[in-house]
Amino acid sequence: MPSNYPTRRPTDAEYLPDETVDLPSSLLNLPWIDCHNHAQTLSWEDRERYALSGCQSMVMVASGYHWTPYKPVVADDVRFLWDDAINRRRAIENNHFFDADLAVGVHTGVRIENPDELLAAMDEYCRLDEVVALGETGITPSQHVEAWGIDEQRAVVQAQMELADEHGLPIILHTPNRRTGDSPTYRVGASTPGYEKNASLASSPVITADNPALEAVEIDVQTAKDARLDEERIVASHADPNNAEYLLEETECYLSFTVGYPWLTGVTAADVAEVIREYGPDRILVETDCANVLRTDVFSVKRTIFDLYRMGISESDIRQVVFENPRNVFSLEE
Ligand SMILES: [Zn+2]
Repeated sequence: MPSNYPTRRPTDAEYLPDETVDLPSSLLNLPWIDCHNHAQTLSWEDRERYALSGCQSMVMVASGYHWTPYKPVVADDVRFLWDDAINRRRAIENNHFFDADLAVGVHTGVRIENPDELLAAMDEYCRLDEVVALGETGITPSQHVEAWGIDEQRAVVQAQMELADEHGLPIILHTPNRRTGDSPTYRVGASTPGYEKNASLASSPVITADNPALEAVEIDVQTAKDARLDEERIVASHADPNNAEYLLEETECYLSFTVGYPWLTGVTAADVAEVIREYGPDRILVETDCANVLRTDVFSVKRTIFDLYRMGISESDIRQVVFENPRNVFSLEE
């Protein structure tokens, strides 16, 4: 092949197709929102990484597995998580350049001895400006340390859904994932590398159906009906191929795909691209769910922006999914 270049031999560049790939530099500066993380549990440097990669706003969830409890767990243990997040939120905003709002919730991944006390206090928390959502909560097929029966879990989830309805707030569901990434098979009995939680303390499942992860979401949706909560107020976090079709075809819920730890869940930008292609971007969000107990990636939403474009999703659809949808669903300031 004759070359116009002065190189001694034809370079690889000359063998590329003539048309150049158009990777728009505007995606470098596309603002994005992380609508579910536990950034209050991360390091200062991690929060700085959110700012460096263009995260404009985040919802820090003050409830969940970032806290691996001792037993027994009482209402005040969980209330401390809410108060700690409130305590630290403004300092976080004053150090970094993004807005940080909060979700407060009663997670059902651990049994709480006196949940009514928490639920009674929650109304006052819902009135705070910085509280933009409830959750994360929702039926969990099995608990840490001590099982919590379905009826008791349901009562706790329904009470939070009723509060969400009363206060006009969205609620984040901890929709269980079914798909798991490649788990190591060596040293059977050792805990999962990347997850600093003693998995051997998991209690026996309280849902024994064939597909407990999907069954849990279906119970959540039924519970929302009982609570008279509009499905548009529900953000089903940790959406995955196991629940996406049900949620998109049979409900009006929003779906948020956790892309921060595909090594555990198997969920990647490819799953997000697939649902956008099939159903459009209107009810789709993405989130990092970064927390201190887990090997999670602060840059995962930013990377998803690039991956979605490479997979053929338009810039305007990407912007809607990573920015406009979370801004609108959580009524965040511009
Ligand atoms: Zn979470």
